[in-house]
Amino acid sequence: MSSIPVQSPLTFPAWPQHGAEEREGLLHVLEQEGWWRNGGSEVDSFEREFADLHGAHRAIATTNGTHALELALSVLGVGPGDEVIVPAFTFIATSLAVQRVGAVPVPCDVRPDTYNLDVEAAARLVTPRTKVVMPVHMAGQLADMDALAELAAATGVTVLQDAAHAHSARWRGSRVGELGSIAAFSFQNGKLMTAGEGGAVLLPDDETHREAYLRHGCGRPPGDRLYAHLTQGSNFRMNEFSATVLRGQLSRLEAQVTLREERSRHLAALLGAIPGVVPQDRDERCDRMAHYMAMVRLPGITRDRRLAVVDALLEHGVPAFVAFPPVYRTAGYFQGPAVGDVDEIAKRCPVSEEIGSDCLWLHHRVLLADTPVLDRLAEVFADVVAAN
Ligand SMILES: *Cc1c(COP(=O)(O)O)cnc(C)c1O
Repeated sequence: MSSIPVQSPLTFPAWPQHGAEEREGLLHVLEQEGWWRNGGSEVDSFEREFADLHGAHRAIATTNGTHALELALSVLGVGPGDEVIVPAFTFIATSLAVQRVGAVPVPCDVRPDTYNLDVEAAARLVTPRTKVVMPVHMAGQLADMDALAELAAATGVTVLQDAAHAHSARWRGSRVGELGSIAAFSFQNGKLMTAGEGGAVLLPDDETHREAYLRHGCGRPPGDRLYAHLTQGSNFRMNEFSATVLRGQLSRLEAQVTLREERSRHLAALLGAIPGVVPQDRDERCDRMAHYMAMVRLPGITRDRRLAVVDALLEHGVPAFVAFPPVYRTAGYFQGPAVGDVDEIAKRCPVSEEIGSDCLWLHHRVLLADTPVLDRLAEVFADVVAAN
């Protein structure tokens, strides 16, 4: 690795952020009689506010985003013998949730421009066992929800949105909760709003809400005192502390997403002008992108050189990360004959193979910085790429 001297490392806004809302909320919960959802009203209030923000009928808050996906899959009746189509390029939780309910995650290639699910490729993977197709809204850009709706109508497969990156995003004016499908979110420490850990599902109707409520609390109906376990499930309940913190986080979300939209256009233009650097493309039908990450590809770069670039960026104070390997290349991925071997899957996922080695991303707190800082960042980025 050749290095350029670091004069003064760049500094960016901190993440997570908090203020009086979170502090006062936490003190309030501390003093209330109970700290679980049945001991107060913070979880109830948060669910209502989160559903309203996204135009959803109802929401259920959960322990984390992986559990939100597991809960959603179980509400949809997914279990052993079923297949779920997942993007090959995603964080492993998308696949793990499917595995936890006993179903088979079938990796599908993504698009080279948006890194979102290639819906034509997904159509080729539908079998009589396919129950769900699970798009991930990569970096907060909604997947092609029009093509997915067509696929669902043509095949009877149900769409489940992995919206872990997509708080407050929109598709042709529709909010995530207005697209007719269940959507699962994460509030893990790095996500666009956070309580350290946490998750939620948006539900489109009373029936799915009732099922999700039962299944997130050991099958018990609201107010149950009789140990009535009306269905199977687990304990995925959020606590009151997390909910009050998330209500505080909600108060900042909209302004932050708006700011990131502005800054990301500025940064993408600068980075896109650097030879060898191609920023994630924007499908303008996603008319509000949440920007969980600022992603770029360095086509043709080797894995070693990519890591050297990320290390050099970190030395300059830029929070940079290598992007996900294809899920099927990790030991965490489903083991069994139902999916075929890695080489077979890799052959039908050429784009995920490439992105898995040439993509890197910057933390979304970068997009909350002032434009002169982003101008400096682009200079540093150009120098680092040229030197490595
Ligand atoms: C973060 C994330 C999840 C799961 O979230 P946790 O809260 O960490 O369990 C699921 N899918 C994607 C794409 C994610 O990035």
